[in-house]
Amino acid sequence: MAVVKAGAYGHGLEEVANALVGENLIFFGVANVGEARRIRNAGVNTRIYLLGATWAGEREEIVARNWTPCLSTLEEAEHFNRLAAAAGTPLKVHLAVDTGMGRGGFLLDQLADSMAVLERMEYLEIEGIGSHLPSADEDEEFTRSQIARYHEIIEQLGGPARFKWRHLLNSAGLLAYDRGTCNLARPGLMLYGVSPLPAYQDRLATVMTLKSRVTLVRTLPAGHGVSYGRQFVTTKPTRVATIGIGYGDGYPRHVSGKGSDVWLDGRRCPILGRVTMDQIMVDASECGDVMEGDEVEMFGPNIPVNEIAEKAGTIVWEIFTGITPRVVRCYR
Ligand SMILES: *Cc1c(COP(=O)(O)O)cnc(C)c1O
Repeated sequence: MAVVKAGAYGHGLEEVANALVGENLIFFGVANVGEARRIRNAGVNTRIYLLGATWAGEREEIVARNWTPCLSTLEEAEHFNRLAAAAGTPLKVHLAVDTGMGRGGFLLDQLADSMAVLERMEYLEIEGIGSHLPSADEDEEFTRSQIARYHEIIEQLGGPARFKWRHLLNSAGLLAYDRGTCNLARPGLMLYGVSPLPAYQDRLATVMTLKSRVTLVRTLPAGHGVSYGRQFVTTKPTRVATIGIGYGDGYPRHVSGKGSDVWLDGRRCPILGRVTMDQIMVDASECGDVMEGDEVEMFGPNIPVNEIAEKAGTIVWEIFTGITPRVVRCYR
């Protein structure tokens, strides 16, 4: 299952769906009905799995379009069952089980009873069982015990053969843990070339490069403040390149003052002062002839996006999904 929620992690939902459609996928994983519609409107007919709980008002469309929900309560199951009965066609659904995420799924103490009730719902076909790992990139001990619990649950509910699709692993899970009896995985971040676990980064290649251009080059004298709040003041004459990108494009303002660099003229150039909405100033004193129009890499092959996320005090998922529509997407 290719997880393409949030506009394929900011990479462009339609473009990524079209790029992956020939890869033998079972499902595209999306967050909501709006994203499911966009995939269909792009002419992609791969099955669609809804990763989270659905709102009641969306369910008629889900049934009519044969998208696959995961169930967390008997109430939603009953609703889907009624809608599927009215439509006259059974709906394939997956059982979500909460093995530690605390966000959705049946709680373990209700599971056996709920399963018995679900199996009596005539228009629901329970074809899968899914759960989610909250700490696969942070807590190995917990994750191991969680994975063991997931497989125990499958045994208690009738064994692997009872469920056509058994899925638990996200990117970190897929990279670092055994799949056990799982026969489907739900990678997101790693599809876009970033490993949640640094040790596996060399297996992946970055997909997104964020670039801008130099818009201005000037030499500021010593003692000159740079950017809002004058947090940086030059101590010597400094060649400052202004770049046409800022937090209005999704480049994180929180890297300000954290020693972050951009890639310009084949080298790292430090960001000076605060990131502004549309412009960023960097020290280009060590560069050769930097000119207006020169390309600047904000992150990509030379400036790892993990580094930017870390300096901004956040995660790569948020950096990717935060790149705003103002940034022109170019696909190769
Ligand atoms: C977002 C999401 C994933 C993908 O997670 P990554 O860490 O990006 O691989 C998998 N499963 C569920 C339920 C999700 O919400």
